[in-house]
Amino acid sequence: MSDAEIVVSAGRGLKGPENWKMIEELATLLGAGTACSRPVADLDWRPHDEHVGQTGKVVRPNLYIAVGISGAIFLKLPTTALLAMPLRWYLN
Ligand SMILES: Cc1cc2nc3c(=O)[nH]c(=O)nc-3n(C[C@H](O)[C@H](O)[C@H](O)COP(=O)(O)OP(=O)(O)OC[C@H]3O[C@@H](n4cnc5c(N)ncnc54)[C@H](O)[C@@H]3O)c2cc1C
Repeated sequence: MSDAEIVVSAGRGLKGPENWKMIEELATLLGAGTACSRPVADLDWRPHDEHVGQTGKVVRPNLYIAVGISGAIFLKLPTTALLAMPLRWYLN
């Protein structure tokens, strides 16, 4: 994940670990690495070695796709492009 050109990352907006399949499917389609926010790791939805940010892994992808992440300052990334995807149409 640290060296990935594309990273698909998801946060608490995903509502639960059962919804992670769509993140993995998107990552597979794009040949991307997967990551998560710290609260997601704290909640044990994902392992801590996947959480990115100030207290987690450093990633430098060309494209960082953030799904259900609030965009707190602890997640600011050195990346060429950031795509924040709203999930509200899928998860209620
Ligand atoms: C000293 C310190 C260090 C920290 N280090 C890190 C760090 O390294 N990494 C890190 O990630 N955090 C870190 N944090 C925590 C950070 O401040 C944020 O609290 C955290 O990143 C927020 O995670 P989140 O976006 O997953 O959750 P939230 O802030 O809860 O955001 C969830 C987002 O999902 C949206 N959402 C909710 N429901 C839906 C839905 N149905 N569809 C679509 N969107 C929805 C919400 O509107 C919100 O925007 C640190 C905090 C401190 C104090």
